[in-house]
Parts: sequence; C-alpha cells; structure tokens
Amino acid sequence: MKILVPVKRVVDYNIKPRVKADGSGVETAGVKMSMNPFDEIAVEEAVRLREKGAASEVVVVSIGVQQAQDTLRTAMAMGADRAILVLTEESPEPLAVAKVLKKLVEKEGPSLVVLGKQAIDDDMNATGQMLAGLLGWGQGTFASKVEVVDGRVNVSREIDGGTEQVSLALPAIVTADLRLNEPRYASLPNIMKAKKKPLETIPAADLGVDMAPRLTVVSVAEPAERKAGIKVGSAAELVEKLRNEAKVI
Ligand code: AMP
Repeated sequence: MKILVPVKRVVDYNIKPRVKADGSGVETAGVKMSMNPFDEIAVEEAVRLREKGAASEVVVVSIGVQQAQDTLRTAMAMGADRAILVLTEESPEPLAVAKVLKKLVEKEGPSLVVLGKQAIDDDMNATGQMLAGLLGWGQGTFASKVEVVDGRVNVSREIDGGTEQVSLALPAIVTADLRLNEPRYASLPNIMKAKKKPLETIPAADLGVDMAPRLTVVSVAEPAERKAGIKVGSAAELVEKLRNEAKVI
C-alpha cells in the first residue's frame, strides 16, 4: 500500500507574520519558512504506518516554488521514501492544489492520502475535503488516531466535546489533527540520507490543470493592537471601573 502525503512550505510557526506594506498579503521575503506543522504530523503518521508494515511506500508532494524542495527533503529525512515537486510560481488555492493532487493520485495510485488538517498560513482547512470530493473517496478529517485494518482505515476524529470513530473503505483521505502523534526530529544521518532519495520535479503546466484563482484578496490587515492593562488598588475600584468605564456590569 502506497501513502501520498502533501506537504506545504509555510512561514515558520515561530515567526510573527508581518503584513506587506501594500496590504496585499503576508510578507514572505527574507522570512524563515518551514513545513506546515500539521503536515509534519501527517508525514510522521505515514512513516509509522510503513514501519508497522501497514504501508510499503510513503511519497511526499509539494506544490510550490523551487525552495519547496527543502520542505520535501525534510520530509524524506523524517522517513518518506521519495518526493515530487509540482513547480509553480503562484501560491495555489485549495481547489487548484486538490486538482493537482487528483492528477498525482491517478498517476501514483496511492491507497491513502494523509494531509494536514490545515495550512497555518491561509487557515483554509479545505484541501483534503476538496480532494475527497473530486476523487469520490471517503474522508476522515481531524484525525487523532489512525489504524489500517483489513482494507479499511479506522479514524478517531476530534469533534466538539469528544471523538467520533469512523471506518472508511480504502482508498481514502485522512487529515491530521494536533494530537495524532508527535513528529520525530530528523537526525543528521537521516538528513544526509535524504539528500540521495529521489525527488522528481514536474512543471505544474504539464499536468493540464486549471489553476486559475477563484478568490480575490481584498486586503490583509494586522490585528488591532491590545491596549495596555492597568492595576487597580482595591476590589471596590475594580467594581467601579467595570461599572462606569467598561460598562460591563
Ligand atoms: P489548507 O486547505 O490550505 O488549509 O491545507 C490543508 C492541507 O493541504 C495542508 O496541511 C497540506 O497537507 C495540503 N496542502 C495545501 N496546500 C498545499 C501545497 N501547496 N502543497 C502541498 N500540500 C498542500
């Protein structure tokens, strides 16, 4: 069984995003970029399934600029077997990504696609669901546990106030939530080994997919700055301020 794991290169989660001066988006020039954290969890889960013998190969794919190669090398240092970069200069919307992934699914024939539940740069939380729709496959989203048993994948889903168990016939789509696992760090020997693993580059134009954007970003703004707090001298003063200044009691 082959597993396909789409991984996105995003602004590192430790960096405070800055809005571009013209308000057209988030600044990425000169900013540290890393693998989307939910995609690290997806890669870890796929590698664990292969280590358990439930899968034979883990293929990672990124749709993006040339530098997304680094993200793919990181995924291979974590244990993925090979990588595909679908090269594009634009940053594609979830529908375009899902269409590209559908083409790769047709080419590669995986039984399982494990994605992150969302990319932390655009917070779309849409690609996995759209891919499931395009392929007509079942989906287990927000997964906190994944088991492959007898040609099915059993998924515990994080839902409000608890978990839901779903059982999907393979082939299927799973999206990884935070509690699914703790991704391993890539060791130095594995980083070296990953440099020799196969990485295929396919120009997006060669796939014949309509990647034209459907959305127009009107503007992007920083959140309003929080005002500094004050210290009150007594409970009575606090009550007075809540009543007369904040007018909340
Ligand atoms: P989103 O729907 O944009 O929040 O992304 C959900 C998931 O789709 C991510 O966690 C990735 O697994 C996958 N994904 C989104 N965009 C890309 C991309 N450009 N390249 C590879 N995978 C992607």
